[in-house]
Amino acid sequence: MKKITVLGSTGSIGRQTLEVIAAHPTEYELYGVSANSNFELLCEQARNFRAKRIACSTAFPCANDIDCIFGDDAAERLAADNEADVVVLAISGIAALKPLLAAIKNGKRIAIANKESLVCGGDLVDAALEKYHAELVPIDSEQSAIFQCLKNGSDREVKRLILTASGGPFFRRSKDELENITMAEVLHHPTWNMGKKITLDSATLFNKGLEIIEAARLFHRSADGISVLIHPQSIVHSMVEYRDGTIMANMSCPDMRLPIQYALSYPNRLENTLCKPLLLEDVGDLTFHKVDVERFGAIKLAYQALRHGGGLPTVFNGANERAAELYFDEKITFLDIETCVAYACDRYENQRMDSLESILDADRQARTLASEWAWRVKGKK
Ligand code: NDP
Ligand code: MG
Repeated sequence: MKKITVLGSTGSIGRQTLEVIAAHPTEYELYGVSANSNFELLCEQARNFRAKRIACSTAFPCANDIDCIFGDDAAERLAADNEADVVVLAISGIAALKPLLAAIKNGKRIAIANKESLVCGGDLVDAALEKYHAELVPIDSEQSAIFQCLKNGSDREVKRLILTASGGPFFRRSKDELENITMAEVLHHPTWNMGKKITLDSATLFNKGLEIIEAARLFHRSADGISVLIHPQSIVHSMVEYRDGTIMANMSCPDMRLPIQYALSYPNRLENTLCKPLLLEDVGDLTFHKVDVERFGAIKLAYQALRHGGGLPTVFNGANERAAELYFDEKITFLDIETCVAYACDRYENQRMDSLESILDADRQARTLASEWAWRVKGKK
């Protein structure tokens, strides 16, 4: 019986992880859960699954029979608890970086959905993984696909990783048409049902930009070894091309519970009782299109950030997180996001990232630059 701690259990990935745990009661038990502020759902989850510990950034009255941790560092403290066999990292944003580093110190498995922490954590995360012999198994569907496709050859035999992208809801629209796009349209993704920020990132293609850097971190590849293809059906989750010309692809219906289950059960595979099986005859056509890197600035900026390294990937992420907040607060428009992040990346004086403090500092600078752009160009704070 594996004990699982789910950080960010009240979110989209967190809730689906609990469904996977519930579907395999003889394999998994829920040990700890965490949230930022949604304590009603957090308590309900803890009760239903008889979890032992809960962590929440905001304090609330808590039942006596459960151990509660409160405060800004609550998730980090729960991540550090050595009782759990697997920590699922389903917190959104760079807020997951400290909990990730804390979990790594236990030298066990981290099933990681959060991509921002990998994009920003870079070498620091790598060094910690090596030092503490911890294992990262990706949940993000593209990275899970690549992780599985990589089992078919040695590292030296790999030519390139091919990330697929649904293209989001606006792939076929021109820039002019995007001028007046509403938030409701942005938050309606054609193939995946996800949290608010990643749904926005999917529409701007910043999600794919982050995933390019995430793949580079997870699988130790350079920018030239990673390409992107638009695949609107979201059936092929990503591919690996080998030197002999063979391309291995990973396919299933788009349902995050599948990669979540795999990240928990790896190297084994458990029965699928939750997701619709894939019937290719019902899908019919699978199509692929080249990405216009010039049109989608997010992809271009991501490659630049990856190539330059240093603090630039952190700034790419931090400015995008801040721009997303400004967008949700209706202070900037959909198309402004790209311009705002480009401004921050352009103004940032690149530095080496050799400590957690330097990463958090680059993140702060990114947010300040993004806010500065909104203030200067839009007159909004
Ligand atoms: P959600 O917004 O649905 O959930 C985020 C979770 O993190 C919630 O439990 C939230 O708590 C908690 N949280 C947010 N901010 C903080 C903070 N500062 N400190 C502690 N906890 C916090 O996000 P998703 O589930 O969609 O995404 C989670 C991560 O997984 C992201 O990094 C995303 O990119 C990645 N991912 C998501 C996919 C998806 O299908 N959703 C697919 C692939 C990757 P509360 O509820 O209290 O706010
Ligand atoms: Mg993904």
